[in-house]
Amino acid sequence: MTKRKTSILANLDKKFLWHPFTQMKEWGMQDNLIIERGKGNYLIDTNGRKYLDGVSSLWVNIHGHRKKEIDSAIKKQIDKISHSTLLGLGNIPSIKLAEKLVKIAPKGLTKVFYSDNGSTAVEIALKMAFQYWKQAIGNRQEAMGKKTKFVAFTNAYHGDTFGSMSVGEIDVFVKKYKPLLFPTFKAFYPYCYRCPINKTYPDCKISCIKRFEEILKSHHNEIAACIIEPIIQGAGGIIVSPPGFLKKVRQLCTKYKILLIADEVATGFGRTGKMFACEHENVSPDFLCLAKGITGGYLPLAATLTTQKIYNAFLGEYKDLKTFFHGHTYTGNPLGCAAAIANLEIFEKEKTIQRLEPKIKLLTQLLKRLKNLPYAGDVRQKGLMAGIELVKDKKTKKAFPMELRIGSKICMEARKHGLIIRPLGDTIVIMPPLSITTDEIRKMMDIIYRCVEFVGGNCPSAGAGL
Ligand SMILES: *Cc1c(COP(=O)(O)O)cnc(C)c1O
Repeated sequence: MTKRKTSILANLDKKFLWHPFTQMKEWGMQDNLIIERGKGNYLIDTNGRKYLDGVSSLWVNIHGHRKKEIDSAIKKQIDKISHSTLLGLGNIPSIKLAEKLVKIAPKGLTKVFYSDNGSTAVEIALKMAFQYWKQAIGNRQEAMGKKTKFVAFTNAYHGDTFGSMSVGEIDVFVKKYKPLLFPTFKAFYPYCYRCPINKTYPDCKISCIKRFEEILKSHHNEIAACIIEPIIQGAGGIIVSPPGFLKKVRQLCTKYKILLIADEVATGFGRTGKMFACEHENVSPDFLCLAKGITGGYLPLAATLTTQKIYNAFLGEYKDLKTFFHGHTYTGNPLGCAAAIANLEIFEKEKTIQRLEPKIKLLTQLLKRLKNLPYAGDVRQKGLMAGIELVKDKKTKKAFPMELRIGSKICMEARKHGLIIRPLGDTIVIMPPLSITTDEIRKMMDIIYRCVEFVGGNCPSAGAGL
């Protein structure tokens, strides 16, 4: 595309679009890239420039762009039908995909409810858990509907709709809406690096679990479910929980009769080195929320998986009104499901998970080098998900002033070298497609290293040269 055409498009974008999670005043003043094509692990803009897709087009892409098998699965499905409803009718891809999802999901999850995105996958789990206790048979006290609240974790992110915001806790995202959100118990997530109670990891971990148990002990009669991002909090800054934490949460939930919702919207489909993060600690939740990577990053589709026991509590005569009265218009969309089936078939055929091992090791090794840089306050990683938190002072862990936009500056600088990444505050996020090669990992980490060094050294107020 010519420079002139690109510039016309960029102006139309500024004139007509409102971008998500974007300060539009800033957007209006800067030169923005417009992506025209993709190939493998690269994005190509309207000027024909290639960029490594370092955040998988916002944590969704799995096997690369223009993956032959997914492209053709969607095209094949288009030639049959693009959409028919699941309200009162079945469709072929949604059936085949449900069978596949149940096969690979943690033990006990046998029912699949579809929706379109991560936030709705979470809303559905919350509503099902809530309604379950209203209808559950065999425990009179609990069935009287007292179990109406949720326990969630500090620094959690579960989506942007009101229910998912209510169980979320990132201040900049949800604080303004607080009066509209339902009250939720908040337990400490073991964010050891910035622990509010203890500074050292083992004590900190004990405190978090103790506090969690205290909440359950005092309030289990009111709590329907606990929601957690297993192993890694994503949008909270790629915070990896200490080993054993998830397992302990599962045990306590079982002990106090609280349902466990695992939000694997970010961690699902291989990102952490296993198909699902729950597998790291051999945990089976009562609900599993899936979205982002489910279609290989092609189409908006989500699924909430649950157990036979939960499902059974919704069975009855129509007049009992035990039905789950929830559904989205595009629920179980055949194109999305066809893409998701192809995605899972590639996992099998290419042994995607097994082949991650050397890539993960290499990333660990290259992150170690980065740790030595003056502003690299903390480096966190699990599988192919990593976060580099930049701080003004490594000793005190004092953050950069927000207005410096240091994370954003580093990501803008990376573009000049052909890498697209996006920060979470001052944490640089690395979440490439699982199909990234070892050479590409080297290239990506080399660019990030140079950009952190360069921007850090070129920010006078960052205290460079001290
Ligand atoms: C992205 C994300 C969501 C929200 O998904 P959307 O598709 O953006 O609605 C929910 N939970 C987690 C853990 C996520 O990372």
